[in-house]
Amino acid sequence: MEQGILAERQDQIHRTGEGPFELACNRDSLAGAVSQRACVFCGSRVVLYPIADALHLVHGPIGCAVYTWDIRGALSSGPELHRLSFSTDLQEKDVIFGGEKKLKAALLELIARYQPKAAFVYATCIVGIIGDDVAAVCRDVTAATGIPVIPVQSEGFKGNKREGYTAACKAMFTLTGTGDVSGISPISVNILGDFNLAGEIWIIRDYFKRMGVEVVANITGDGRVDDIRRANGAALNVVQCSGSTMELAKMMQEKYGIPSLRVSYLGIEDMADSLYAVAEHFKDRDPGIVERTQQVVREELAVLLPQLKQYRKDLEGKKVAIYVGGAFKAFSLIKAFRHLGMQVVLVGSQTGTTEDYAELAAICDPGTVIVDDSNPLELSKFVKELDVDLFVGGVKERPIAHKLGVGFCDHNHERKEALEGFVGMLNFAREVHASATSPIWQFVPRREAMAKAAKGEGI
Ligand code: SF4
Repeated sequence: MEQGILAERQDQIHRTGEGPFELACNRDSLAGAVSQRACVFCGSRVVLYPIADALHLVHGPIGCAVYTWDIRGALSSGPELHRLSFSTDLQEKDVIFGGEKKLKAALLELIARYQPKAAFVYATCIVGIIGDDVAAVCRDVTAATGIPVIPVQSEGFKGNKREGYTAACKAMFTLTGTGDVSGISPISVNILGDFNLAGEIWIIRDYFKRMGVEVVANITGDGRVDDIRRANGAALNVVQCSGSTMELAKMMQEKYGIPSLRVSYLGIEDMADSLYAVAEHFKDRDPGIVERTQQVVREELAVLLPQLKQYRKDLEGKKVAIYVGGAFKAFSLIKAFRHLGMQVVLVGSQTGTTEDYAELAAICDPGTVIVDDSNPLELSKFVKELDVDLFVGGVKERPIAHKLGVGFCDHNHERKEALEGFVGMLNFAREVHASATSPIWQFVPRREAMAKAAKGEGI
């Protein structure tokens, strides 16, 4: 057994170039491995809660409600009800006698007080164990209040984070088809899988506007209930972070016949390719759209490319580790780092599929370590072994990087700087440069020792 890797996890790690590509994935985390993954409930909440005019009520003990706006700061251009966290705070008595009455009372009180457009009720582990009929309570409260009250069957123990995405998609699907779709342009899209963490959906909406494309619904960054209710009137679903929302796109294709495109707004090529793919889709209905899209890309690149050059000269040759939630982001990051002259030596995700990893293996350099559903022990081992200069990840990877004395770039829930779109690529380069070239890292004991050894000095 390799030090730092549990025997049962060996088949979830692969080095490109070492034998045929095979990687086990999309299975429950190994007990005791301290996975970087969050639970089913968290998966559903991160997808749904950017819907800013809905009430989000966590039915469970107060601890589950720790996943709040603070953890994923999705921005809203209007209402901000999503920033408030509500919990039924189940206690021992509720666990013994059931929590349904408490849930109903909480919903009626909150709906009367905040007048939301809809309410999502999240089932947590304990609710699954005691068997509260969340759906029945939601039906009762819908009848009493007249707003959609939607159960999210996200009991934390019933699978991995992907199950949470499924629960969120099923919940949103019940809203679609309940709004007025009149007046929607035939050149229209829904934006799926962007969460507007740093105002990024506004950047993407601006590109679409300049292309002449109407955006019907943001799903879910800066999302609105009424927009999702009429999302079935859009001509196309553009799906980023396909792990979290592709299922909704599939359901909409089946029921409403809306096709979907998988896109990414990260990096130069993927951002441009995504806009061109949308233009290509609509070019028969709107022959001018291709030229307008080329114009958007030209204008943005004219600003971006000269500025990127200055960062590349310092970053050339530095090594990067990537560990992200959904694998789609890793594809774009690898390409973005190539633009900066940097080499990705480790890449992994919490929820990648067999197809995702095969695609990753195809674009990675030989010797790159690919890892599914990793843990701090493994990640630390590889960061040291591969002598990484920069780690890209989220809130749970940040301490690993900093404790090991390498630069860190938050590309997840907590980021405050827009990293999508052409302008986002520039912000990304600036942040990567500042972190990877910080003089502080030379004083980390591990690096000091390596520098001395390189000079032939004693340690
Ligand atoms: S739903 Fe279960 S696993 Fe998730 S936070 Fe609550 S208790 Fe923990």
